Amino acid sequence: MTPDEFRTYGHELVDWMADYMANVDTLPVKPDIPPRAIIDQLPAAPPDTPEPFPRIFDDFRSIILPGMTHWQHPSFFAYFPANSSPPSVLGEMLTATLGAQCMSWATSPAATELEQRVMEWLRSMIGLPASFTGVIQDTASTATLCAILTAREQRSGFAVNERGFSPDERYTVYCSLEAHSSVEKAVKIAGIGREYLRKIPVDAAYAMDPPALETAIAADIRSGLTPLCVVAAIGTTGSTALDPLPAIVAICRRHRVWLHCDAAFAGNALILPECRWIAKDIGSADSIVFNPHKWMLTNFDCSAYFVRDAGALVRTFEILPEYLKTPEGDRVNNYRDWGIQLGRRFRALKLWFVIRSYGVSGLQAVLRNHIAMAQTLASTMRSMPDFELLAPAPLNVICFRYAPPSVTDAAALDALNAKLHALLNADGTMFLTHTKLAGRYTLRLVIGQTNVRQSHVDAAWARIVSTARSLAE
Ligand SMILES: *Cc1c(COP(=O)(O)O)cnc(C)c1O
Repeated sequence: MTPDEFRTYGHELVDWMADYMANVDTLPVKPDIPPRAIIDQLPAAPPDTPEPFPRIFDDFRSIILPGMTHWQHPSFFAYFPANSSPPSVLGEMLTATLGAQCMSWATSPAATELEQRVMEWLRSMIGLPASFTGVIQDTASTATLCAILTAREQRSGFAVNERGFSPDERYTVYCSLEAHSSVEKAVKIAGIGREYLRKIPVDAAYAMDPPALETAIAADIRSGLTPLCVVAAIGTTGSTALDPLPAIVAICRRHRVWLHCDAAFAGNALILPECRWIAKDIGSADSIVFNPHKWMLTNFDCSAYFVRDAGALVRTFEILPEYLKTPEGDRVNNYRDWGIQLGRRFRALKLWFVIRSYGVSGLQAVLRNHIAMAQTLASTMRSMPDFELLAPAPLNVICFRYAPPSVTDAAALDALNAKLHALLNADGTMFLTHTKLAGRYTLRLVIGQTNVRQSHVDAAWARIVSTARSLAE
């Protein structure tokens, strides 16, 4: 592709992107296609000779686009959002254009120093003390793995990295029954072993029960095991349940256990001073992760990881082969030593564009509006005799089911709600996902998409009510 062709197609693509953003609400949120619908349209072999860009772009529109789930659709109420925004996309375009590999300061000084500054901004935006240092990771899963690996190294005096596990020391890790699967994955990868992950019972609000945590830790110590790390969820994936940090902090202190806070989604709400109650004492944690790529208008991927002891993190991961040695020494951060992979994308750029374009007050206004819409809908549901909230809704995630007084059998209620769920998602006008809470089929409605307005929430709710009531007839 010549520079002139790039310019022409680039302009065409930006026009397409702007149209997409303006009109995404007219597309089905989710495609209604069977498995293999896309792959069967793609040639089995790559082209041997060059193909013109217009033909590639045509295929993008005719083959790929109809098979996409539109995460930026304002009626996307599923999972957690992976929301984006125009300034974020522009930042991502420049990241791709620069194509820099930001593994060390020397390989792109501006990328390193911007990341350092933007993470300081983010730290103050969420009210963390300046004793924390931030680094951008790809995902919360990676950050949680980094936390467990760092805890392991610190606890073993950095011996596991050198010699592997000692046969007479066994570590245990703790999280609640409602914790994200990434904790279990990290425990497996870190060599702790899944049998040594303790899933602590939860209370009626699906939050970790601190006395049960204390009991589990004490039992493990009596058995000669070494409690290593507690992962507290600030906003579980199922229902945004909030593990009670002050009690957990006290237990971790008493037993010298690393405390990692997984605030992947709800941590974004900490930019709102009125929401800081969700993570009281978070400044006493050893590490914290939250995802601007979920709810801070920054397109996937961008995960913010904060640690109290950056030295321990770097000591866990640092490597220094001859070909990576540079003369700057301690005066710069070499982020290759702050996580797992060597190569790193320039992710700070899009975050910088987003924070500057919206301003902190602009981002706060977006999140506040999401929470307000969700709180209004939750109280509407509470007031209706045939709908039931199945968990507290502290922020913008509503867990509910349709429960007409005529249906009392647990299995029948599950079947009714599974049917309702399938009907709601069937025509592509909205997209909800589900979970199980205390064994009950639970619909989850998350109001956090960048472009969601009251009208989308109203339309979704009207459809939920009418579809549900038509089922009961
Ligand atoms: C989404 C989520 C994760 C995983 O996030 P990734 O960035 O996709 O790895 C972890 N924990 C919680 C609580 C989550 O909601």
